[in-house]
Amino acid sequence: AELHFPVGGVVAQLQGRATVVKAVDGVTFELRRGESVGLLGESGCGKTSTGRMLVRLDKATGGRVEFDGEDVSGLTGDALKRFRSRVQLIFQNPFEALNPRFTIRDVLAEPLENARIPRAEHEERILRAMALVKLGDAGQFMDRYPHQLSGGQLQRIVMARALILEPEFVVADEPVSMLDVSVRAGVLNVFRDVRAQQGITAIYISHDLALVRYVCERTIVMYLGRIVEDGPTEDIVANPLHPYTQALVAAVPVPHPDQSHAPLPIGRGAPDPRNPPSGCTFRDRCPRAFDRCAVEAPGPTHVQNRIVHCHLHEPKT
Ligand code: SF4
Repeated sequence: AELHFPVGGVVAQLQGRATVVKAVDGVTFELRRGESVGLLGESGCGKTSTGRMLVRLDKATGGRVEFDGEDVSGLTGDALKRFRSRVQLIFQNPFEALNPRFTIRDVLAEPLENARIPRAEHEERILRAMALVKLGDAGQFMDRYPHQLSGGQLQRIVMARALILEPEFVVADEPVSMLDVSVRAGVLNVFRDVRAQQGITAIYISHDLALVRYVCERTIVMYLGRIVEDGPTEDIVANPLHPYTQALVAAVPVPHPDQSHAPLPIGRGAPDPRNPPSGCTFRDRCPRAFDRCAVEAPGPTHVQNRIVHCHLHEPKT
């Protein structure tokens, strides 16, 4: 049966000393089984909070996160365990993700133990997961410790650990941002190929359009905790509709995973999320802002095969 992962009206509130900051505000989207979707935006735009809520590492304080028809926000005990065995998060920093006292064999056996997979099956499943991430001679790595591996090798182990329970849904949070540029393409290729071969539904979180373009057929662009544009990646790159997406695309003239991008052509960073502008939260950086943008937040508008949140694209009345 077709699996859907609709996420609706999610609100994460980060408790500051005196203020409550909405990390994500009314983010609504639906993933279809087998899709690879990029969550794209600058740091602080809420993409990591969204990813963590999708796999229930963080709990949404409002709205719903549905997985296969079930709201996972309220799951506890065995139901939460069962859900967690079907989803995985790949962390940004492979140097911190693995227990330094565990050998690679122990690292990969841990999720199998937690899922009560019989010991007799461990070796075969560990070898299979290592083959998936193309680490070469698995025997050479099994009894090593994380500090004996390079960053690229570690991130492949992190991926093998995430894949060993054959998840249906994976969230990868900037998985190559801590790696040398020279090994990024190899790790990305593994992620892209395994995802496609295994039919895994994936969210790829990044601030870098070139990386998202390399891995994802669909892109959701976020700005200050909200979605601004959602549609097929190649269409977004060829013809970005939202002024923020236009700035992101202009900063990556020839997208390639090894390439660093130019500064955004919209000046300084995003405003303080504790004090967002009224109306459209992008308006103080938007080269096309007009009077209405200060008083009214734009809602979603369907344009061709996309959803855009910008007054410029609303139907004329
Ligand atoms: Fe710019 Fe106004 Fe569109 Fe916001 S709604 S992106 S400020 S034109």
